Amino acid sequence: MSLAPLSTDHSTELYDLARRYIPGGVNSPVRAFKGVGGNPLFFKAGEGAYLIDADDNRYVDYVCGWGPFILGHCHPAIINALQLQLKRGLGYGASTEAEVEIAEKICNILPSIESVRLVSSGTEATMSAIRVARGFTRRDKVVKFEGCYHGHVDSLLVKAGSGALTMGEPDSLGVPRAFTDLTYVLPFNDSDAVENLFARHGDEIACLIVEPVAGNMNLVPPQAGFLETLREVCDRHGSVLIFDEVMTGFRVALGGAQSIYNIKPDLTTLGKVIGGGLPVGAFGGRKDIMDCLAPDGPVYQAGTLSGNPLAVTAGLATLKEISKPGFYDQLGRQTQKLLAGLQQRADAAGVPFTTNQAGAMFGCFFSDEKTVSHFDQVMACNLDNFKTFFHTMLDNGIYLAPSAYEAGFVSAAHLDRELELTLDAAEKAFSAVASGNQ
Ligand SMILES: *Cc1c(COP(=O)(O)O)cnc(C)c1O
Repeated sequence: MSLAPLSTDHSTELYDLARRYIPGGVNSPVRAFKGVGGNPLFFKAGEGAYLIDADDNRYVDYVCGWGPFILGHCHPAIINALQLQLKRGLGYGASTEAEVEIAEKICNILPSIESVRLVSSGTEATMSAIRVARGFTRRDKVVKFEGCYHGHVDSLLVKAGSGALTMGEPDSLGVPRAFTDLTYVLPFNDSDAVENLFARHGDEIACLIVEPVAGNMNLVPPQAGFLETLREVCDRHGSVLIFDEVMTGFRVALGGAQSIYNIKPDLTTLGKVIGGGLPVGAFGGRKDIMDCLAPDGPVYQAGTLSGNPLAVTAGLATLKEISKPGFYDQLGRQTQKLLAGLQQRADAAGVPFTTNQAGAMFGCFFSDEKTVSHFDQVMACNLDNFKTFFHTMLDNGIYLAPSAYEAGFVSAAHLDRELELTLDAAEKAFSAVASGNQ
Protein backbone atom coordinates (compact mmCIF):
# COMPACT_ATOMS: atom_id res chain seq x y z
CA MET A 1 0.00 0.00 0.00
CA SER A 2 2.71 2.41 1.01
CA LEU A 3 6.10 2.72 -0.67
CA ALA A 4 8.02 2.50 2.60
CA PRO A 5 5.99 1.00 5.42
CA LEU A 6 7.14 2.03 8.87
CA SER A 7 8.69 -0.51 11.15
CA THR A 8 6.27 -1.24 13.98
CA ASP A 9 7.86 -4.41 15.33
CA HIS A 10 7.87 -3.29 18.93
CA SER A 11 4.16 -2.45 18.80
CA THR A 12 3.52 -5.90 17.36
CA GLU A 13 5.50 -7.56 20.17
CA LEU A 14 3.61 -5.57 22.78
CA TYR A 15 0.29 -6.50 21.17
CA ASP A 16 1.22 -10.21 21.24
CA LEU A 17 2.10 -9.93 24.91
CA ALA A 18 -0.99 -7.84 25.68
CA ARG A 19 -3.27 -10.49 24.22
CA ARG A 20 -1.98 -12.94 26.80
CA TYR A 21 -3.06 -10.80 29.73
CA ILE A 22 -5.76 -8.41 28.49
CA PRO A 23 -8.94 -9.49 26.67
CA GLY A 24 -8.29 -8.81 22.99
CA GLY A 25 -5.06 -7.09 24.00
CA VAL A 26 -6.79 -3.76 24.65
CA ASN A 27 -8.66 -1.97 27.39
CA SER A 28 -11.25 -0.51 25.01
CA PRO A 29 -12.32 -2.38 21.86
CA VAL A 30 -11.89 0.22 19.09
CA ARG A 31 -8.17 0.44 19.90
CA ALA A 32 -7.68 -3.07 18.52
CA PHE A 33 -7.81 -2.00 14.82
CA LYS A 34 -10.57 -4.57 14.10
CA GLY A 35 -12.25 -1.96 11.88
CA VAL A 36 -9.18 -1.50 9.65
CA GLY A 37 -7.19 -4.71 9.94
CA GLY A 38 -3.58 -5.07 11.00
CA ASN A 39 -2.06 -4.70 14.44
CA PRO A 40 -2.76 -1.74 16.69
CA LEU A 41 0.03 0.67 17.53
CA PHE A 42 1.27 1.11 21.07
CA PHE A 43 2.29 4.64 22.00
CA LYS A 44 4.79 5.91 24.49
CA ALA A 45 4.61 9.69 24.23
CA GLY A 46 2.62 12.63 22.97
CA GLU A 47 3.95 16.09 22.07
CA GLY A 48 1.61 18.79 20.86
CA ALA A 49 -0.09 17.49 17.70
CA TYR A 50 2.11 14.38 17.59
CA LEU A 51 2.08 10.87 19.00
CA ILE A 52 5.22 8.77 19.23
CA ASP A 53 4.81 5.00 19.00
CA ALA A 54 6.76 2.23 20.69
CA ASP A 55 9.12 2.08 17.66
CA ASP A 56 9.77 5.86 17.79
CA ASN A 57 7.66 6.68 14.72
CA ARG A 58 5.97 10.10 14.86
CA TYR A 59 2.41 10.69 13.74
CA VAL A 60 0.19 13.73 13.45
CA ASP A 61 -2.63 12.73 15.79
CA TYR A 62 -6.27 13.22 14.78
CA VAL A 63 -7.65 11.01 17.55
CA CYS A 64 -6.57 13.37 20.32
CA GLY A 65 -7.38 10.75 22.95
CA TRP A 66 -10.86 10.47 21.35
CA GLY A 67 -11.43 14.15 22.03
CA PRO A 68 -9.91 15.28 25.33
CA PHE A 69 -6.59 16.66 24.03
CA ILE A 70 -8.04 19.81 22.53
CA LEU A 71 -4.85 21.67 23.51
CA GLY A 72 -2.58 18.98 22.08
CA HIS A 73 -0.46 16.60 24.16
CA CYS A 74 1.50 17.78 27.20
CA HIS A 75 0.25 21.34 27.14
CA PRO A 76 2.47 23.23 29.62
CA ALA A 77 -0.48 24.87 31.43
CA ILE A 78 -1.91 21.45 32.28
CA ILE A 79 1.40 19.80 33.14
CA ASN A 80 2.42 22.68 35.42
CA ALA A 81 -0.90 22.72 37.23
CA LEU A 82 -0.73 18.95 37.74
CA GLN A 83 2.81 19.15 39.10
CA LEU A 84 1.68 21.64 41.73
CA GLN A 85 -1.28 19.48 42.73
CA LEU A 86 0.84 16.30 42.84
CA LYS A 87 2.83 17.70 45.74
CA ARG A 88 -0.37 18.33 47.70
CA GLY A 89 -1.68 14.82 47.42
CA LEU A 90 -3.65 12.73 44.97
CA GLY A 91 -6.96 12.90 46.77
CA TYR A 92 -8.61 13.17 50.13
CA GLY A 93 -11.93 11.38 49.80
CA ALA A 94 -13.55 14.65 50.80
CA SER A 95 -14.50 17.94 49.18
CA THR A 96 -12.04 20.47 47.77
CA GLU A 97 -12.22 24.10 46.67
CA ALA A 98 -11.27 23.13 43.10
CA GLU A 99 -14.49 21.11 42.73
CA VAL A 100 -16.56 24.16 43.58
CA GLU A 101 -14.52 26.23 41.16
CA ILE A 102 -15.01 23.83 38.25
CA ALA A 103 -18.72 23.43 39.02
CA GLU A 104 -19.16 27.20 38.97
CA LYS A 105 -17.23 27.46 35.69
CA ILE A 106 -19.31 24.72 34.06
CA CYS A 107 -22.54 26.45 35.15
CA ASN A 108 -21.28 29.77 33.77
CA ILE A 109 -20.19 28.34 30.43
CA LEU A 110 -23.37 26.26 29.94
CA PRO A 111 -26.35 28.31 31.13
CA SER A 112 -28.68 25.26 30.94
CA ILE A 113 -26.68 23.77 33.83
CA GLU A 114 -27.75 25.17 37.19
CA SER A 115 -26.24 22.41 39.27
CA VAL A 116 -23.67 19.79 38.30
CA ARG A 117 -22.15 16.64 39.76
CA LEU A 118 -18.73 15.27 38.79
CA VAL A 119 -18.08 11.61 38.01
CA SER A 120 -15.11 9.79 36.45
CA SER A 121 -16.27 8.85 32.94
CA GLY A 122 -18.78 9.67 30.26
CA THR A 123 -20.53 6.36 30.83
CA GLU A 124 -21.05 7.19 34.48
CA ALA A 125 -22.41 10.59 33.50
CA THR A 126 -25.06 9.22 31.11
CA MET A 127 -26.00 6.35 33.43
CA SER A 128 -26.51 8.79 36.30
CA ALA A 129 -28.37 11.34 34.18
CA ILE A 130 -30.84 8.66 33.13
CA ARG A 131 -31.31 7.51 36.69
CA VAL A 132 -32.05 10.99 37.96
CA ALA A 133 -34.41 11.61 35.01
CA ARG A 134 -36.29 8.44 35.88
CA GLY A 135 -36.40 9.35 39.55
CA PHE A 136 -37.61 12.86 38.81
CA THR A 137 -40.37 11.81 36.41
CA ARG A 138 -41.17 8.51 38.17
CA ARG A 139 -41.28 6.92 34.72
CA ASP A 140 -39.15 4.09 33.29
CA LYS A 141 -38.95 4.41 29.49
CA VAL A 142 -35.98 5.93 27.71
CA VAL A 143 -35.60 7.04 24.09
CA LYS A 144 -32.30 6.96 22.22
CA PHE A 145 -31.23 7.22 18.57
CA GLU A 146 -29.65 4.68 16.27
CA GLY A 147 -25.94 5.39 15.81
CA CYS A 148 -25.69 7.53 18.94
CA TYR A 149 -23.36 6.16 21.61
CA HIS A 150 -23.71 7.06 25.25
CA GLY A 151 -21.09 4.84 26.84
CA HIS A 152 -21.60 1.20 27.75
CA VAL A 153 -24.68 1.71 29.93
CA ASP A 154 -26.74 -1.53 29.93
CA SER A 155 -30.06 0.00 28.92
CA LEU A 156 -28.42 1.98 26.11
CA LEU A 157 -26.53 -0.89 24.46
CA VAL A 158 -29.49 -1.33 22.22
CA LYS A 159 -30.07 -1.57 18.52
CA ALA A 160 -33.29 -0.76 16.73
CA GLY A 161 -35.95 -3.47 16.88
CA SER A 162 -37.37 -4.96 13.71
CA GLY A 163 -40.51 -2.86 13.35
CA ALA A 164 -41.02 0.86 13.67
CA LEU A 165 -41.98 1.95 17.18
CA THR A 166 -40.84 -1.29 18.76
CA MET A 167 -38.59 -1.55 21.78
CA GLY A 168 -34.89 -2.00 21.20
CA GLU A 169 -32.98 -5.26 21.26
CA PRO A 170 -29.77 -5.85 23.21
CA ASP A 171 -26.69 -4.99 21.16
CA SER A 172 -24.41 -6.98 23.45
CA LEU A 173 -24.59 -10.31 25.22
CA GLY A 174 -24.85 -9.77 28.94
CA VAL A 175 -27.53 -7.11 28.63
CA PRO A 176 -30.84 -8.59 29.83
CA ARG A 177 -33.75 -8.24 27.47
CA ALA A 178 -35.73 -6.77 30.37
CA PHE A 179 -33.40 -3.76 30.45
CA THR A 180 -33.70 -2.94 26.78
CA ASP A 181 -37.46 -3.48 26.91
CA LEU A 182 -37.48 -0.07 28.54
CA THR A 183 -35.58 1.61 25.69
CA TYR A 184 -37.01 2.90 22.42
CA VAL A 185 -34.58 3.35 19.52
CA LEU A 186 -35.39 5.85 16.76
CA PRO A 187 -33.57 7.00 13.59
CA PHE A 188 -31.41 10.10 14.11
CA ASN A 189 -32.63 13.19 12.24
CA ASP A 190 -36.14 11.73 11.86
CA SER A 191 -38.51 14.21 13.51
CA ASP A 192 -41.62 12.34 12.35
CA ALA A 193 -40.52 9.17 14.13
CA VAL A 194 -40.07 11.18 17.32
CA GLU A 195 -43.49 12.82 17.01
CA ASN A 196 -45.15 9.44 16.35
CA LEU A 197 -43.54 7.70 19.29
CA PHE A 198 -44.38 10.48 21.73
CA ALA A 199 -47.95 10.69 20.44
CA ARG A 200 -48.40 7.04 21.45
CA HIS A 201 -46.16 6.62 24.47
CA GLY A 202 -45.05 10.12 25.51
CA ASP A 203 -46.55 9.90 28.97
CA GLU A 204 -44.45 6.83 29.84
CA ILE A 205 -41.17 8.36 28.70
CA ALA A 206 -38.81 9.48 31.44
CA CYS A 207 -36.21 10.93 29.13
CA LEU A 208 -34.85 11.23 25.64
CA ILE A 209 -31.07 11.14 25.30
CA VAL A 210 -29.30 12.36 22.16
CA GLU A 211 -25.90 13.41 20.93
CA PRO A 212 -26.91 16.84 19.59
CA VAL A 213 -24.19 16.42 16.97
CA ALA A 214 -23.75 12.69 16.46
CA GLY A 215 -20.07 11.85 16.79
CA ASN A 216 -20.14 8.08 17.16
CA MET A 217 -21.41 7.24 13.68
CA ASN A 218 -18.62 9.23 12.15
CA LEU A 219 -19.90 12.84 12.34
CA VAL A 220 -23.52 13.68 11.56
CA PRO A 221 -24.88 17.12 12.45
CA PRO A 222 -28.57 17.56 13.29
CA GLN A 223 -30.79 18.69 10.43
CA ALA A 224 -32.69 21.96 10.76
CA GLY A 225 -35.61 21.53 13.16
CA PHE A 226 -34.59 18.14 14.59
CA LEU A 227 -33.34 19.34 17.98
CA GLU A 228 -36.28 21.79 18.16
CA THR A 229 -38.67 18.86 17.75
CA LEU A 230 -36.97 16.99 20.59
CA ARG A 231 -37.34 20.04 22.84
CA GLU A 232 -41.02 20.44 21.91
CA VAL A 233 -42.10 16.83 22.45
CA CYS A 234 -40.27 16.61 25.77
CA ASP A 235 -41.98 19.82 26.93
CA ARG A 236 -45.35 18.56 25.78
CA HIS A 237 -45.05 15.24 27.60
CA GLY A 238 -43.05 16.21 30.67
CA SER A 239 -40.07 14.09 29.60
CA VAL A 240 -36.51 15.09 30.42
CA LEU A 241 -34.38 16.11 27.43
CA ILE A 242 -30.77 14.98 27.90
CA PHE A 243 -28.06 16.26 25.58
CA ASP A 244 -25.11 13.91 25.72
CA GLU A 245 -22.30 16.39 25.13
CA VAL A 246 -19.55 14.08 26.37
CA MET A 247 -17.95 14.49 22.96
CA THR A 248 -19.34 17.82 21.73
CA GLY A 249 -19.05 19.76 25.01
CA PHE A 250 -16.18 22.30 24.86
CA ARG A 251 -15.38 20.77 21.46
CA VAL A 252 -17.76 22.06 18.77
CA ALA A 253 -17.84 25.38 20.65
CA LEU A 254 -17.02 26.48 24.20
CA GLY A 255 -20.69 26.15 25.14
CA GLY A 256 -21.13 22.86 23.27
CA ALA A 257 -23.71 22.04 20.62
CA GLN A 258 -26.48 23.57 22.72
CA SER A 259 -24.87 27.00 22.30
CA ILE A 260 -24.66 26.60 18.51
CA TYR A 261 -28.18 25.32 17.98
CA ASN A 262 -29.60 27.43 20.79
CA ILE A 263 -31.60 24.65 22.44
CA LYS A 264 -31.72 24.32 26.20
CA PRO A 265 -31.71 20.69 27.36
CA ASP A 266 -32.95 19.76 30.85
CA LEU A 267 -29.80 17.77 31.57
CA THR A 268 -26.38 17.68 29.92
CA THR A 269 -23.68 15.04 30.20
CA LEU A 270 -20.02 15.96 29.82
CA GLY A 271 -16.71 14.11 29.66
CA LYS A 272 -13.62 13.99 27.45
CA VAL A 273 -12.45 17.67 27.18
CA ILE A 274 -13.68 18.48 30.70
CA GLY A 275 -10.92 16.27 32.16
CA GLY A 276 -8.13 17.61 29.96
CA GLY A 277 -6.99 13.99 29.45
CA LEU A 278 -7.65 12.68 32.96
CA PRO A 279 -10.81 10.75 33.88
CA VAL A 280 -13.64 13.23 34.50
CA GLY A 281 -17.29 13.17 33.56
CA ALA A 282 -20.12 15.41 34.70
CA PHE A 283 -23.87 15.61 34.51
CA GLY A 284 -25.97 18.60 35.36
CA GLY A 285 -28.89 20.77 34.44
CA ARG A 286 -32.14 21.96 35.97
CA LYS A 287 -31.84 22.41 39.69
CA ASP A 288 -35.24 20.85 40.44
CA ILE A 289 -34.07 17.65 38.71
CA MET A 290 -30.56 17.61 40.15
CA ASP A 291 -31.98 18.19 43.64
CA CYS A 292 -33.45 14.68 43.45
CA LEU A 293 -29.92 13.29 43.96
CA ALA A 294 -28.64 11.98 47.29
CA PRO A 295 -27.86 13.31 49.88
CA ASP A 296 -30.75 15.79 49.56
CA GLY A 297 -33.01 13.64 47.39
CA PRO A 298 -34.09 10.01 46.94
CA VAL A 299 -32.00 9.14 43.83
CA TYR A 300 -28.75 7.44 44.80
CA GLN A 301 -25.49 8.27 43.03
CA ALA A 302 -21.91 8.23 44.34
CA GLY A 303 -18.23 7.80 43.42
CA THR A 304 -15.04 7.13 45.40
CA LEU A 305 -12.88 9.10 42.97
CA SER A 306 -15.52 11.64 41.87
CA GLY A 307 -14.05 15.13 41.84
CA ASN A 308 -10.52 13.75 42.18
CA PRO A 309 -8.15 16.72 42.68
CA LEU A 310 -5.72 15.78 39.91
CA ALA A 311 -8.50 15.23 37.40
CA VAL A 312 -10.24 18.47 38.39
CA THR A 313 -6.93 20.34 38.17
CA ALA A 314 -6.42 19.15 34.59
CA GLY A 315 -10.01 20.11 33.79
CA LEU A 316 -9.69 23.59 35.26
CA ALA A 317 -6.40 24.26 33.45
CA THR A 318 -8.05 23.16 30.20
CA LEU A 319 -11.13 25.32 30.73
CA LYS A 320 -8.90 28.33 31.36
CA GLU A 321 -7.05 27.88 28.07
CA ILE A 322 -10.09 27.16 25.93
CA SER A 323 -11.99 30.15 27.34
CA LYS A 324 -9.44 32.55 25.83
CA PRO A 325 -10.93 34.78 23.12
CA GLY A 326 -10.59 33.45 19.58
CA PHE A 327 -9.67 29.90 20.66
CA TYR A 328 -12.51 28.21 18.79
CA ASP A 329 -12.22 30.47 15.73
CA GLN A 330 -8.66 29.29 15.22
CA LEU A 331 -9.60 25.61 15.74
CA GLY A 332 -12.55 25.90 13.37
CA ARG A 333 -10.41 27.57 10.70
CA GLN A 334 -7.74 24.85 10.87
CA THR A 335 -10.38 22.14 10.68
CA GLN A 336 -11.98 23.83 7.68
CA LYS A 337 -8.61 24.16 5.93
CA LEU A 338 -7.91 20.48 6.56
CA LEU A 339 -11.25 19.39 5.13
CA ALA A 340 -11.03 21.66 2.09
CA GLY A 341 -7.56 20.24 1.40
CA LEU A 342 -8.77 16.66 1.74
CA GLN A 343 -11.74 17.28 -0.55
CA GLN A 344 -9.52 18.85 -3.18
CA ARG A 345 -7.15 15.88 -3.18
CA ALA A 346 -10.00 13.37 -3.26
CA ASP A 347 -11.55 15.17 -6.22
CA ALA A 348 -8.20 15.31 -8.02
CA ALA A 349 -7.80 11.55 -7.58
CA GLY A 350 -11.40 10.93 -8.65
CA VAL A 351 -12.36 9.32 -5.33
CA PRO A 352 -16.00 9.75 -4.19
CA PHE A 353 -15.59 11.52 -0.87
CA THR A 354 -17.34 14.04 1.33
CA THR A 355 -16.87 15.56 4.78
CA ASN A 356 -18.86 16.97 7.69
CA GLN A 357 -17.59 19.53 10.19
CA ALA A 358 -18.74 20.77 13.58
CA GLY A 359 -16.20 23.15 15.11
CA ALA A 360 -13.05 21.14 15.80
CA MET A 361 -14.71 17.79 14.97
CA PHE A 362 -14.86 16.31 11.51
CA GLY A 363 -16.18 13.33 9.60
CA CYS A 364 -14.78 11.81 6.38
CA PHE A 365 -17.02 9.65 4.20
CA PHE A 366 -16.11 7.54 1.21
CA SER A 367 -19.50 8.09 -0.30
CA ASP A 368 -21.08 9.24 -3.55
CA GLU A 369 -23.53 11.39 -1.62
CA LYS A 370 -22.81 15.07 -1.20
CA THR A 371 -24.37 15.28 2.25
CA VAL A 372 -24.42 12.56 4.87
CA SER A 373 -27.13 13.09 7.47
CA HIS A 374 -28.50 9.63 8.27
CA PHE A 375 -27.22 6.46 9.89
CA ASP A 376 -27.98 4.37 6.78
CA GLN A 377 -25.84 6.67 4.64
CA VAL A 378 -22.94 6.30 7.05
CA MET A 379 -23.32 2.52 6.98
CA ALA A 380 -23.35 2.54 3.17
CA CYS A 381 -19.90 4.17 2.89
CA ASN A 382 -17.11 2.27 1.15
CA LEU A 383 -15.17 0.47 3.89
CA ASP A 384 -12.45 -0.86 1.60
CA ASN A 385 -11.64 2.66 0.49
CA PHE A 386 -11.50 3.77 4.10
CA LYS A 387 -9.14 0.94 5.06
CA THR A 388 -6.77 1.72 2.19
CA PHE A 389 -6.88 5.41 3.07
CA PHE A 390 -6.32 4.74 6.78
CA HIS A 391 -3.31 2.48 6.29
CA THR A 392 -1.65 4.71 3.69
CA MET A 393 -2.10 7.70 6.00
CA LEU A 394 -0.66 5.69 8.89
CA ASP A 395 2.36 4.61 6.85
CA ASN A 396 2.91 8.25 6.02
CA GLY A 397 2.82 9.45 9.61
CA ILE A 398 -0.84 10.41 10.07
CA TYR A 399 -2.84 8.74 12.83
CA LEU A 400 -6.59 8.68 12.15
CA ALA A 401 -9.17 6.85 14.24
CA PRO A 402 -8.95 3.15 13.29
CA SER A 403 -12.62 2.94 12.33
CA ALA A 404 -14.83 4.43 9.64
CA TYR A 405 -17.44 5.25 12.29
CA GLU A 406 -15.41 7.59 14.47
CA ALA A 407 -15.18 11.36 14.27
CA GLY A 408 -11.80 13.06 13.87
CA PHE A 409 -10.46 15.79 16.15
CA VAL A 410 -8.22 18.79 15.61
CA SER A 411 -6.30 20.38 18.48
CA ALA A 412 -4.85 23.83 19.02
CA ALA A 413 -1.44 22.32 18.27
CA HIS A 414 -2.45 21.43 14.71
CA LEU A 415 -0.80 24.33 12.88
CA ASP A 416 -0.24 24.84 9.16
CA ARG A 417 2.87 22.64 9.19
CA GLU A 418 0.84 19.67 10.52
CA LEU A 419 -1.91 20.27 7.98
CA GLU A 420 0.67 20.27 5.18
CA LEU A 421 2.09 16.94 6.34
CA THR A 422 -1.44 15.58 6.48
CA LEU A 423 -2.42 16.77 3.02
CA ASP A 424 0.81 15.47 1.46
CA ALA A 425 0.02 12.07 2.95
CA ALA A 426 -3.60 12.37 1.83
CA GLU A 427 -2.52 12.88 -1.77
CA LYS A 428 -0.77 9.52 -1.65
CA ALA A 429 -3.64 7.91 0.24
CA PHE A 430 -6.33 9.04 -2.21
CA SER A 431 -4.22 7.87 -5.12
CA ALA A 432 -3.82 4.48 -3.40
CA VAL A 433 -7.62 4.37 -3.04
CA ALA A 434 -8.08 5.30 -6.71
CA SER A 435 -5.62 2.66 -7.96
CA GLY A 436 -7.25 0.04 -5.71
CA ASN A 437 -10.52 0.81 -7.44
CA GLN A 438 -9.29 0.40 -10.99
C1 LIG B 1 -17.18 8.79 24.71
C2 LIG B 1 -18.61 9.00 24.89
C3 LIG B 1 -19.31 8.49 26.00
C4 LIG B 1 -18.67 7.57 26.99
O1 LIG B 1 -17.64 8.16 27.70
P1 LIG B 1 -16.57 7.21 28.43
O2 LIG B 1 -15.69 8.18 29.17
O3 LIG B 1 -15.88 6.45 27.36
O4 LIG B 1 -17.32 6.33 29.35
C5 LIG B 1 -20.62 8.83 26.16
N1 LIG B 1 -21.25 9.62 25.26
C6 LIG B 1 -20.62 10.11 24.18
C7 LIG B 1 -21.37 10.99 23.24
C8 LIG B 1 -19.30 9.80 23.94
O5 LIG B 1 -18.70 10.26 22.84
